[in-house]
Amino acid sequence: MLGQLGEDAKVLAGGQSLIPLMKLRLARPSALVDLNHIPRTAYIEAQNGDLRIGAMTRHAEIEDSPAAARIPILHDCAAGIADPQVRNMGTIGGSVAEADPHGDWAPVLIALGAEVESIGPAGGRSVPISQFIKDAFTTVLGPTELVREIRVPRPGARSAGAYIAFKRCAPVYPTASAAVQVTMLDDDFCQDAKVVLGSVGLTPVIATEAAAALRGQAITPHAIERAAEAAMAAADPQADLRGSVDYKRLLVQVLTRRALLAALARSRGEKVEVSHEYVGR
Ligand SMILES: Cc1cc2nc3c(=O)[nH]c(=O)nc-3n(C[C@H](O)[C@H](O)[C@H](O)COP(=O)(O)OP(=O)(O)OC[C@H]3O[C@@H](n4cnc5c(N)ncnc54)[C@H](O)[C@@H]3O)c2cc1C
Repeated sequence: MLGQLGEDAKVLAGGQSLIPLMKLRLARPSALVDLNHIPRTAYIEAQNGDLRIGAMTRHAEIEDSPAAARIPILHDCAAGIADPQVRNMGTIGGSVAEADPHGDWAPVLIALGAEVESIGPAGGRSVPISQFIKDAFTTVLGPTELVREIRVPRPGARSAGAYIAFKRCAPVYPTASAAVQVTMLDDDFCQDAKVVLGSVGLTPVIATEAAAALRGQAITPHAIERAAEAAMAAADPQADLRGSVDYKRLLVQVLTRRALLAALARSRGEKVEVSHEYVGR
């Protein structure tokens, strides 16, 4: 249908980004193709060690999923997106396809090394999400391609992550966020780490120096501070109504430190609840 309707047609998933943009007349599609009636597009399934999440899976379904809860960083993210209304309608596929610089899913899925499976008239392809997002609101998808599935590799036994976003209130996008995934050799020694920042660049910022401060290191308070400082240096925020550049950089430092401490505790088997942080709480 997209091929027949031409480039001005758009697909409708949860409508939580597209419909507000249409109401503001910032998007004026010539036609909408509603994906909500296509069966078997919303699912969360474990397969060969990976978690497969169908594009039309709602944020709330991931929040409530026992399969997703085995990768707690997924729950951290899903449970904090906006409010129940948005979570009940918005989909992970729509979020990834929208590539909003303030979206919560992309930093988390990059930290997990997830792949985006798409489908179009020429067949399917799988692209690491770090390459799938090309720029703000821009992905590698062609005009007749759809996101079909997100594939998340199951983290190893001593691998754990955490995601914390800071928001002015529930139904708004984050001011800044940090996703951290660590793989430990034992309680103290870090084998691998990923630190990805949201809302502080046009695309998620992969903080390579912050990860390098942890990888192959004994995790001391000093190493944690160095990682948080390196994340702060990697952030490239813009000043806006959410705060100044300096304020957002400081937020990144604090959020990275807190997410890292939660990820480390989870890697030791501790049950740690983290959620999005709100102004005044
Ligand atoms: C008040 C409010 C607050 C919000 N706060 C947050 C927040 O804090 N964090 C956050 O991450 N998000 C937030 N959102 C956005 C929400 O998560 C959206 O659900 C999400 O960004 C888009 O998903 P959707 O299913 O609603 O997509 P839609 O709005 O239906 O579509 C978005 C775009 O993606 C395209 N698209 C949709 N599905 C596919 C597909 N399978 N393949 C190819 N293209 C597709 C559409 O054509 C459209 O261009 C908020 C939204 C609102 C209204």
